[in-house]
Amino acid sequence: MKTGARVKRSISALKELFYPKICPCCGDHIQNQQSVICLSCLIFLPYTNFHQLKINPLHKKFWGRMEIQHADSLLFMEKCSKTQELMYLLKYSHRQDIGTFLSEQTIQRYHNHSFPSTIQAIVIVPLHPRKEKQRGYNQCHTFAQHLSVSWQVPYLKNALSRISHSNSQTGNTRMERWENVANIFTLAKKDAIQNKHILLIDDVLTTGATLEACGQQILKLTGTKLSILTMACKV
Ligand SMILES: [Zn+2]
Repeated sequence: MKTGARVKRSISALKELFYPKICPCCGDHIQNQQSVICLSCLIFLPYTNFHQLKINPLHKKFWGRMEIQHADSLLFMEKCSKTQELMYLLKYSHRQDIGTFLSEQTIQRYHNHSFPSTIQAIVIVPLHPRKEKQRGYNQCHTFAQHLSVSWQVPYLKNALSRISHSNSQTGNTRMERWENVANIFTLAKKDAIQNKHILLIDDVLTTGATLEACGQQILKLTGTKLSILTMACKV
């Protein structure tokens, strides 16, 4: 082993000794300093594997609402679950590395899958500017950016804007959620979107009302097709 590599390894070992990395899902020590979660949680995360099905429960959620080419979510979201912990940290604790990690898991699942080659641009569900300023980032950003680089598809940052703040959706029925978000999004970068197959990304899908409101704006443009991808979903 070269001296440089030996020094790097020693520094990493010392770092691990004094600052052991803890898995956010289970609290165990993470052996590999490069990992975001421990090996056991990586294996047992509740993956949906919806990418293997053309018609899946997520796709069915949009039947009669808008035309979707492909719908997928990496993980199931359940109360007090590993997914919930990851999404909380991503959203509220500046753990944007979790977005990159979930993106890597998605890329692995789509290896040898035809879907990524059909996507022509990536768009994310926006936060209200005030909320994004408070939080400091949009929780979908690193997820989308990493996918964009790996799949070599343009990421159209700020293509959608949220023009008014929506109230909390927690506890609302599907209809109430829809009324809350139906007219709060506008679309910019229309020339870059029309006549393209757009992948719309959000962190968590619950009723799909927010994705529908954004998706409707995209589908208004000539020749657009729409697919949906989220990091987690409640189905
Ligand atoms: Zn763990």
